[in-house]
Amino acid sequence: MLHATCYLLLISIMVQNKKEIPSETKNESVEEERLFISLRASAWDEFCGQDKTKQSLQIALSAAKKRKESLEHVLLYGPPGLGKTTLAYLIAREMGVSIRITSGPAIERSGDLASIMTNLEPGDVLFIDEIHRLNKVVEETLYPAMEDYALDIVVGKGPSARTLRLELPRFTIIGATTRIGLMSAPLRDRFGIVQRLNFYPAPDLEKIILTAAKKLSITLDEFAKIALSQRARGTPRIALKLLKRARDFAQVKGSQHIDQKVLEEAFNLLEIDRMGLDDSDRRLLKALIEKHQGGPVGIESLAATISEDIGTIEDVIEPYLMQIGFLKRTPRGREATEKAYEHLGVKKTAPKQTQRKLI
Ligand code: ADP
Repeated sequence: MLHATCYLLLISIMVQNKKEIPSETKNESVEEERLFISLRASAWDEFCGQDKTKQSLQIALSAAKKRKESLEHVLLYGPPGLGKTTLAYLIAREMGVSIRITSGPAIERSGDLASIMTNLEPGDVLFIDEIHRLNKVVEETLYPAMEDYALDIVVGKGPSARTLRLELPRFTIIGATTRIGLMSAPLRDRFGIVQRLNFYPAPDLEKIILTAAKKLSITLDEFAKIALSQRARGTPRIALKLLKRARDFAQVKGSQHIDQKVLEEAFNLLEIDRMGLDDSDRRLLKALIEKHQGGPVGIESLAATISEDIGTIEDVIEPYLMQIGFLKRTPRGREATEKAYEHLGVKKTAPKQTQRKLI
């Protein structure tokens, strides 16, 4: 009976293996995603900045290679577009193994996880983007897989249910998350290497822009290089996106050169100001200042005021506004800073005194 069940389980895993693993879901269009893939750093020296992270990964990699073992599980966290996926590819390349890409929300059932894992070769890298979005059941299936390289699968229901242990080859999980605070402690603790990626300073972004421009066979003047890096919000993905938009503007004019004039036109049309703030950032700050007297205000009210999803505010909009000192997170809610008032050209008014009613 058990043999028959095992057979059925294996068949179901094989059938599931034929399904494509849904790739990471990001907001960019397919065309933009293709561009990012074509511009992805394919060697360590093309990956600019994040020196501490790079160093500790390289030490762990060479130690693992010396021991002829797979690399420990790695957790990379930080805002979107800072290079987590790129690092996962670089790690797999350095170890000379294949990489499989999936994401937390794409693994709905333990069977999905079993299907992916039983397909891994020894040493392979499994990259799980948005790992904080794994559901509880899948997460618990992952624990023995990460620790003992085995999957415990429950077969059948009720009193006849049995647990089957499937042995797995040694592999490395690279988890990526923008919200490490939402990960459970037991999952976080199972990663031997945990690295935070930070926003990039302008000189690193300039290097990234120049390397990408070379790959795209376009040229930039000094103004364009500096202006693009200043408006990239410390994020390579945004730097590349702006570079691509600027290239479109130049190409419409039959040119492969990006200069001040081309950039100013592009930034005006895209409504990107000199600090790199776009319409969503300004809407949030304006709502905070004009509708909530600069705060403090809870994230739920703020999200409702600008009809924006809380996750987008927390993952995409806020981190940069906090980084440049325009927004503060306090225990009582979000607050706009003096710098934000100055940037928007709004005068800070004294908080209204609550008028006492005369009886
Ligand atoms: P994340 O996974 O953190 O969202 P990605 O790895 O997808 O970010 O990076 C987005 C784009 O930015 C990719 O095209 C990638 O090559 C580029 N990029 C990110 N970090 C760097 C870096 N340090 N040096 C060069 N390019 C980078």
